[in-house]
Amino acid sequence: MALKEELAEHIRAQGPITIAEYMERCVSHYYATRDPFGAGGDFTTAPEISQIFGELIGAWIEDRWQHISGAQAVLCELGPGRGTLMKDILRVTRNSGLHESADVVLVEASPALRELQKRTLAYAHTRIRWQETLMNLPPLPLFLIANEFFDALPVHQYLEKEEKKVGLIMNQLAFLPDGKVVREASPACIAVMTQIAAHIQTHGGAALIIDYGYDDAVQGDSVQAVKAHQFIHPLDAPGESDITAHVDFAALKDVAASVGAYVWGVAKQGNFLNALGAQVRLLALGKHASPEQGASLRSGLERLVSYEQMGGLFKVMAVTSTPDVPSGFD
Ligand code: SAH
Repeated sequence: MALKEELAEHIRAQGPITIAEYMERCVSHYYATRDPFGAGGDFTTAPEISQIFGELIGAWIEDRWQHISGAQAVLCELGPGRGTLMKDILRVTRNSGLHESADVVLVEASPALRELQKRTLAYAHTRIRWQETLMNLPPLPLFLIANEFFDALPVHQYLEKEEKKVGLIMNQLAFLPDGKVVREASPACIAVMTQIAAHIQTHGGAALIIDYGYDDAVQGDSVQAVKAHQFIHPLDAPGESDITAHVDFAALKDVAASVGAYVWGVAKQGNFLNALGAQVRLLALGKHASPEQGASLRSGLERLVSYEQMGGLFKVMAVTSTPDVPSGFD
């Protein structure tokens, strides 16, 4: 049965469901049944656009690891997609102590994507394991990266007087009641951030969270659905489109600070990558590239850093266990 019919049957039997429950069921069906990334898929992410993204993040993590004196550690990624970002991180840190000292933990809910990641990372590191959630990390310093992970976590939406839900009108999925969303809240995002920050505060380490989202003005309805690189109505293709919400960075920062971790940002992705030396890296790679490869490296990086493209839309926040300013945030 298609997810649309499953949801309709569930709602007929039990009544309307929250936007959060709707999102959760759509997102898990969506990622369990496809590889959605790239030109032929539904959307493209930064590590799929340019290797420079993962290389700079790898250098950032290595720098943070050295700050806590290079001990045994866990290198963790949330929602690794095709595994490209972790592959680039492990390649650029291959000759470093971090590579030797870290166990790699990939948190991935989708069995299909876990298989894809296993293929991508087959020769990347000798100690990689997969988990469905962030539970039961060993009591070691944690170095964590999450790119476009938090936007996939479910949000509740509230109208002036009540919670917005998904019900049925004439047997079709419909917002019930519909109206102006005045507030969104994501207990799922808060729970994951609390766990990361508490772990880092207790055992040391650093985390980088990269996503589209907002840091100040209260947002109304930020839930969106994308299919084949186009926005569609979020109820039109449940489980067949990428449903996300903008990330409430102010809430993530509050909760990370409240457990005693140091919090940095948010910085615009463009500023962050340039501060880490994106242009220097581009020149270095360009020296060994054909003219065609050089042009593709330039246009890829431009897409990641330009304010009109991903460089302004995407934000970066960091959580650390030490009070010195991490690179990219000064
Ligand atoms: N970070 C990758 C992919 C982002 S897409 C990149 O930048 O290319 C979101 C990823 O998070 C997918 O791998 C998806 O399967 C995973 N995911 C979504 N919700 C999840 C959840 N609740 N728990 C674990 N993984 C989840």
